[in-house]
Amino acid sequence: MEKIQMDKPIVELDGDEMARVMWAWVKEKLIYPYVDLKTEYYDLHVKRRDETGDAVTLHAAEAIKRWGVGVKCATITPNAERVREYGLRREWRSPNATIREVLDGTIFRAPIILRNVAPAVRFWRKPIVVARHAYGDIYSGVGLRFEEAGEVEVVYRPASGGEVRVKLPALKGSGVLQAYHNLDDSIESFARASFKYALMSELNLWFAAKDTISKVYDARFKEIFGKVYEEEFKEEFKRKGLSYEYYLIDDAYSRVMRSEGGFVWATKNYDGDIVSDMVASAFTGSLALMTSELLSPEGYYMAEAAHGTVQRHYYRHLKGEKTSTNPTAIIFAWASGLRERGKRDGIAELVVFSDALEEAARITIEGDRVMTQDVARVAEPPVNMVATTEEFIEAVRRNLDRITEKKLT
Ligand code: NAP
Ligand code: MG
Repeated sequence: MEKIQMDKPIVELDGDEMARVMWAWVKEKLIYPYVDLKTEYYDLHVKRRDETGDAVTLHAAEAIKRWGVGVKCATITPNAERVREYGLRREWRSPNATIREVLDGTIFRAPIILRNVAPAVRFWRKPIVVARHAYGDIYSGVGLRFEEAGEVEVVYRPASGGEVRVKLPALKGSGVLQAYHNLDDSIESFARASFKYALMSELNLWFAAKDTISKVYDARFKEIFGKVYEEEFKEEFKRKGLSYEYYLIDDAYSRVMRSEGGFVWATKNYDGDIVSDMVASAFTGSLALMTSELLSPEGYYMAEAAHGTVQRHYYRHLKGEKTSTNPTAIIFAWASGLRERGKRDGIAELVVFSDALEEAARITIEGDRVMTQDVARVAEPPVNMVATTEEFIEAVRRNLDRITEKKLT
């Protein structure tokens, strides 16, 4: 078979520890033999970030703006321990936060659904993708603890002068209070990215808040989502047979349990914090079967596995042990990046190959019942073989060979 040719590169962001090890294996065994892979490579290894004063992270994010599509390996977000471990100059901030900021991106977490890994909610058949607004609300709020009865007023001073005051209910004794905000621009970007992602992945969109109670704050979110939908997305949604629904947040939480899935749930910051972890663990019980995609309102795209660097496995790997670390989400991240590149550049073979790559991983787990330890623990019917990472990738490779022979020749 001739290798598939690419036109534009994918921005490749390499990372740390076991994720980095699997990253290299996936490329070597499952991509290089089939695709003449073109990437613009950025090494986000924590030492490399340290040496460059984290400039390499910024450059990688800028490259995604240039080329539109990126694929990222999990990276260490250094804390004090990591600073000692790697002899770093400081606790560099999370690369994901930097990238999200530069691209004004929203993160969409999607489960990899397998026939033999039953979700905890038995109605769920199709993916539920959780999009979390990552700006404002309680995450940048201020709190105050007060010791006796009193009064509170919020004073807003517009940059152009003047003053607006709102009073809170009278405080009758000691207690606590909190104030927080959000910005129209940020809500609008979030809404736009959510509608775009839903279109791209052909899923319906939900947005939910509590506008009946929060008549200014949540009502503004609802209003902005409605406006962006009406003005920019309604027609295309209709053409594709997709829907946008606004629900009250309590209604959404109960509906999701009765739904069969098949939608993107755009959540406010706090809801997303909770819902993304709940949906992840209810679908698969493991982050190793979750992908994570970033989409910006301008359409910049980045795919990665939702899990981290799998530190504990890496230490065992360093000792020469063969670990059974699951590379499935990394395989899916590469497939998503290549598919997006193929769609954008009009290279049909690349799209077909991406589908084949996912299918090969799926067949390995569902059909051959060959899987890594984390999946073996929850798979039903039980496994044929608990594989090491390398054995698993080898098994995927055999299936990929079979599928591509059929599809690409
Ligand atoms: P983690 O790397 O996701 O691993 C946590 C545990 O989950 C592992 O110890 C393992 O459990 C299980 N696990 C995760 N991925 C797995 C896989 N592919 N196959 C099998 N098991 C898997 O999270 P962490 O240990 O909290 O974080 C480690 C490092 O990753 C940290 O330095 C953190 O900063 C970084 N991180 C990066 C990202 C990112 O770049 N997007 C995201 C999260 C964390 P068992 O040990 O029980 O087998
Ligand atoms: Mg959380």
